[in-house]
Amino acid sequence: MKLQEELLQRSENKCELCQSGETLKIYEVQPQTENNVANCLMICDTCSAQIDKKEAMNANHWRCLTTSMWSEVPGIQVVSWRMLNRLHNESWALDNLDMLYLDEETLAWAKAADDDDNDAVAEFHKDANGNLLTAGDSVVLTKTLDVKGSSLSAKLGTVVKNIRLVEDNTDQIEGRIEGQVIVILTKYVRKQSN
Ligand SMILES: [Zn+2]
Repeated sequence: MKLQEELLQRSENKCELCQSGETLKIYEVQPQTENNVANCLMICDTCSAQIDKKEAMNANHWRCLTTSMWSEVPGIQVVSWRMLNRLHNESWALDNLDMLYLDEETLAWAKAADDDDNDAVAEFHKDANGNLLTAGDSVVLTKTLDVKGSSLSAKLGTVVKNIRLVEDNTDQIEGRIEGQVIVILTKYVRKQSN
């Protein structure tokens, strides 16, 4: 019971995500081996039902993440990061995700959701400016690329049309340059606006 007391004290009896004073319960941020104040938080029924996908996501409710993501508690950072990812269709959520900095260890934890939560950690291909890339986009190289074992000229400014997103690796896309398909790092491209 000591943990609950500590958490209630920290949360000042409010949901640590949305600040609601409804009934609170302990939420254990998975994966974890042992409960502690760093990996548990007090949340309300509304937050809990949507996190556990028992109720549809109400994007407006989750505007609260823009505040909670700045918490110093790693568990709260992780939940905020995961929920912002789930809200990726909302531009405000993406903007905040861009600003949210997690240290290496916390980020690894945020990505290490169990199977149930897998779609909570969806990641996206983004260009050098953080714009979302989708298959079929045209991009411009922001750096002259050295393509190993090839005389290919992939110079700064080259336009690559109809890109393909590399599955399971959001750092890479594929594109055709001079008839040859090469893998390009997303950090070296800028999406071309139509
Ligand atoms: Zn709440």
